[in-house]
Amino acid sequence: MSEEKFYFQSEAAELLKMMISSVYSNRDIFLRELISNASDALDKRRIETLTNSELAENANPEIKIDIDTDKKTLSVSDNGIGMTRDELIKYLGTIAKSGTKEFLIAAKDTAKSDDAKNELIGQFGVGFYSVFMAADKVEVLTRKLGTAETYKFTSDGNGSYTINDAPQRDECGTTVTLFVREKSDDDAKNYLDEWTIREIIAKYSDFISWPIKFKDKVLNSQKAIWQRPESEITDDEYKDFYRHLTHDFQDPLTHIKINAEGSTNFKGLLFVPSEAPFDMFMNPEAGGVSLYINRVFIMNDCKDLIPSYMRFIRGVIDSEDLPLNISREILQDEPIIRVIRRSTQRKIFNELKKLLSDDREKYIKFWLAFGKIFKEGIIQDREHAKNIFDLAIFRTTNNDEWTTLAEYESRMKPDQKGIYCLAGRDNLSALRASPKLEPFTSRGYEVLLMTDPVDEVILSQSSFILPAEAKPFLNVASDDVTPDTDDEKKANDEKLKAIDTEFSPLKELAMKIFADRLESVRPSFSLSNSPACLRDAHGGMSIQFENMLRAAGQEIPRQKRILELNASHPVVKKLMTMAKDNSEGASNFLKVLYDQALILEGALPENPADFVKRIDDLMSLALVD
Ligand code: ADP
Repeated sequence: MSEEKFYFQSEAAELLKMMISSVYSNRDIFLRELISNASDALDKRRIETLTNSELAENANPEIKIDIDTDKKTLSVSDNGIGMTRDELIKYLGTIAKSGTKEFLIAAKDTAKSDDAKNELIGQFGVGFYSVFMAADKVEVLTRKLGTAETYKFTSDGNGSYTINDAPQRDECGTTVTLFVREKSDDDAKNYLDEWTIREIIAKYSDFISWPIKFKDKVLNSQKAIWQRPESEITDDEYKDFYRHLTHDFQDPLTHIKINAEGSTNFKGLLFVPSEAPFDMFMNPEAGGVSLYINRVFIMNDCKDLIPSYMRFIRGVIDSEDLPLNISREILQDEPIIRVIRRSTQRKIFNELKKLLSDDREKYIKFWLAFGKIFKEGIIQDREHAKNIFDLAIFRTTNNDEWTTLAEYESRMKPDQKGIYCLAGRDNLSALRASPKLEPFTSRGYEVLLMTDPVDEVILSQSSFILPAEAKPFLNVASDDVTPDTDDEKKANDEKLKAIDTEFSPLKELAMKIFADRLESVRPSFSLSNSPACLRDAHGGMSIQFENMLRAAGQEIPRQKRILELNASHPVVKKLMTMAKDNSEGASNFLKVLYDQALILEGALPENPADFVKRIDDLMSLALVD
C-alpha cells in the first residue's frame, strides 16, 4: 500500500505551529469550521447530482459526530462530495488562503500580547487547520463522489502530512477524526464530553440546513436564519452565519434583512463586508449572493440577483415562488428573478441611505472599501444614477471631511452656477496641490476632489446622466470654467489684452518648442502661486486619464493641451523679457516650467533625465561661483 509524505509550505507550517501553541480561549471554533466544511460538501454533492443524471441522489444526507472516549477521538463525518487525492493535497495540504501572509506578519509581532494574538486567530478563522488547537493528530478519510478510491490524510501538525490508500468507504464523503489533546491546565474544555459538544453546536451551527446527528439524535434546529424573525436573531448569530457563508475572518460592516411579501414572496439576508477582498478588482467574480429556493441551496454567486456594481454584497436570497429545477441559463429571463432583483436593489439603496445618515463613520468605511465599485452604477444603471449620486461621498478642498453632494450644495455661494470639481489623480495630496484650484479656493469656493478613475468618466457624462434641474458639475480643469463674474471677465480680458504684445514672443517660443503638445499658450492672471499650469482643452481628458487608457491598451491620439503662464509671477515676467530679447536660456526655462506643470498633473516629465539635468544646471548657476 502506498504511502507518500508531503511537507506543508512554509507559511502553513508556521501557522500550524502557532495554532498548536495557542492558548486561544475560543478553541470551540474548530468544530464550527469542520461542520461548515461538511455542510458545504453536502451542498456540492446535491448540486452535482442535480446536473449529472448518472449519479444517484443522496438518500440520507447528514453530518455525524462521534466521540470515542477510550481512543480519545472526536470525529465529524459527512456523506457529501468528498475529495480526490489531488484535491486532498490541494485543499488540505496548502493554505493558499488570501491573507495568510498578512495574518502571519500581524501575529508575529512579538510586541503583541497573547491575548491580542488569540484574538487574531479567532478573527482569522483558519478553517481546517483550527483542528490543531484541540488535537495532537488528525486523520481525514475521504472518497470522492463518483469514484471508488478512498484516501487517508494524516498529520500531527508538525510541518508534514502523509497520504495513504485506504479501505473503501461505503459511501462517498469525508470523515475528519481528531485525536484530542490531553487536557492540560489551561484547557477549560474537554472535547470528549457530550455536553460540551452539544453546547458548541447549539451555539455556532444551529442554522446549518443539513441534520447534524450525535448519538442518533439531530442536534440542530436547521432553521434558516433568514427565515427567522429579526427580533429573535442575535448579533452573534448574524456574525456566525456571515462567517459560514463567506469564510471572511472579519465581522461584516452591516446586514440587511429582507422580507418581501406580496405578488412575489422572498426572504433575504445580505451583508456588507468591512473590507474589500484583495481580489475584488482583479476578479469581479468574488463575492456574490447565493440563491435558495424554499430553503434548498441552488447556487452560489447568482449574478442575476444583483447588479454588478453591488457585487461586493454577500448573502442569501430565498424564494418559494421559483421552480426547483430552474437552470442558470434561464434565470436571467425569469420574471420572478427580475422582481426580486429590483426590490433587493431598492432595499440596498434604502439601507445604505440609512447608514449614511445614522452612522457616518461606518459609511465612510463602506465607501473606502466599495465606493469605487458602487460608482460604476452611475454609468451602468442610468435609471438609478441619481440614487447613486445621492449616496456618493467626496473629499473637498474645504477640509479633510467627506461630503455628500447635498451637503456641498447647501454650502454653495449664491452666485455659484454648479458644483466645482477636479478629477484626475489617484492621489489626494497631489490633487490638493493642483494650481487649477487656486483661482477658486482663493475666492473661497469649495471644489470637490475626485480621485477614482471612474470619476472622470462620470464627469464627462454627467450632463447626460443628471436630470436637467440638477446642479451641473463644472470641471475646473476645463478651459471654459472660471469663477469670474461677467464684470471680472471683462476686466481680466482687458488686462490680458494690455500685455498681449509683451507676451507674444514668449508664446511664439513656447508654441515652437511644444508644437505637438500644445493647442495654445496663454497668459493668466488667475493663478496665484504657481508659475504655470496645463489645462485640458474643452471636453478633453486629463493627462492621467489619457495615460490610464493608453496603459489599458487603447490607441488614443495625443491630447493637445493649453499651457497657462501666470503673468503676475516673477519667473514668467522675466521669461517674457528674455523671449523678447531672444535670450538663449529662455527655452530651457520654459521646458522646466512645462515639466513642472506635468508633475503637478500627477504625470512624469516626458524625459526625466533631461529634466534633472536642467535643474542641475540651474542649481549650478545659482550656487556655484
Ligand atoms: P475553507 O473552508 O475556508 O475553504 P478549509 O481549510 O476549511 O478552508 O478547507 C479547505 C478546502 O478543503 C475546502 O474549501 C474544501 O474544498 C475542502 N474540504 C474541507 N473539508 C471538506 C469536506 N468535509 N468535504 C469535502 N471537501 C472538504
